[in-house]
Amino acid sequence: MALIVQKFGGTSVANPEKIKAVADRVMKKAREGNKMVVVLSAMAGETNRFVDLAHQMQQIPDPREFDMLLATGEQVTIALFAMAVKEAGMDAISLLGDQVKIITDSRHTRARIKEIDTDMIKKYHDEGKIVVVAGFQGVTEDDHITTLGRGGSDTTAVALAAALKADVCEIFTDVDGVYTTDPNICKKAKKIDRITYDEMLELASLGAKVLDIRSVSFAKRYKVPLHVRSTFTDTEGTWVVEEDQQMESLPVSGVTYNKNEARITISKVPDTPGTASKIFTPIADAGIVVDVIIQNTRSGELTDMTFTVPLTDYDQAMKIVAKVAKDINAESFSGDKDIAKVSIVGVGMRNHAGIATTMFRVLAEEGINILMISTSEIKVSCVIEEKYTELAVRSLHDAFGLDKDTK
Ligand code: ADP
Ligand code: ASP
Ligand code: MG
Repeated sequence: MALIVQKFGGTSVANPEKIKAVADRVMKKAREGNKMVVVLSAMAGETNRFVDLAHQMQQIPDPREFDMLLATGEQVTIALFAMAVKEAGMDAISLLGDQVKIITDSRHTRARIKEIDTDMIKKYHDEGKIVVVAGFQGVTEDDHITTLGRGGSDTTAVALAAALKADVCEIFTDVDGVYTTDPNICKKAKKIDRITYDEMLELASLGAKVLDIRSVSFAKRYKVPLHVRSTFTDTEGTWVVEEDQQMESLPVSGVTYNKNEARITISKVPDTPGTASKIFTPIADAGIVVDVIIQNTRSGELTDMTFTVPLTDYDQAMKIVAKVAKDINAESFSGDKDIAKVSIVGVGMRNHAGIATTMFRVLAEEGINILMISTSEIKVSCVIEEKYTELAVRSLHDAFGLDKDTK
């Protein structure tokens, strides 16, 4: 008998039929004697619908009320799921984040889980119930509903698995695992059987939305065995695991892209100590996470500062930059939303030379101009014009042999 956490994403619970099918799948495991915790997302499209509704009320929705609204989507699916289970003659109970006591900090719309109380889940397990928990939501210490950021149900699932010391956390989705690149834009993408936590962290942070990045951090920290697989088939998916020797033989494991960033340039900034701090402190204070930063040197005492921010924070960042540019006597500033970041990721990069140069050559051969570059030990990212994203992803995927059966 095992304790299993299963998470089903929005497309897996998109309508009553799908919810019934998911319930059947879970009940099968429960009948085998396993203790089941099910984490559900809202029905596909619902969270987006709420975002749209909120914006019809307020240009920048009040974060607390925004969370109050967004959290409702998951309440619908967990209740329907519990009904489906009861209809089939088994027992289930649906629980919201605040009922379980998934305690978060108070950063509305992007809250972090601080603590999970497992007592209630254990009590219902002892009563033989399938426990169904709303993904993506929590509650602050003073009882305000929070959400964890888009895609956050993965994090709920892994955090619950860690807290409950579950035997496995299974993330069920609309693809049958983690692929060498997004299978929806590259037909030649191959399913990866095993991937390291570190590679998965990079892939997730660089745009592979198949797993929410914070779920991978939790899995790595608490060594939660993570299995990403398809809701619609029984095939084995991708295991996210600790690194082993064999994994380093391939220089590149995956290619990702992210179209949700924008670029901001502040031109002719005085090249003096403290300038970067003056620019980036107010941006950080506003909770905006800056990604790639480039500082160009000009002749003389002026420099250009270019950086990227999430597209959703662009307007706010531009407002801050307008003020900062004036304060530091910069000549001008500009922004560009039509960019994308394309990245290659692989732990094997550590022992293979020339990977970055291959990437630059491949992009050059396709006539794609590189606007910014950033690297880490196991990734290289290039910011390019958005219209070339798909071309860049496919060319890099081919160039690094990811369409071949190697893993
Ligand atoms: P869910 O609603 O189940 O959480 P998501 O839409 O969040 O599902 O994540 C699954 C999607 O992630 C897939 O449909 C696919 O388009 C996308 N994706 C992006 N990169 C990858 C990748 N490398 N491997 C698998 N899927 C990927
Ligand atoms: N429903 C939320 C979203 O669409 C959370 C999730 O699906 O993981 O972002
Ligand atoms: Mg998701």
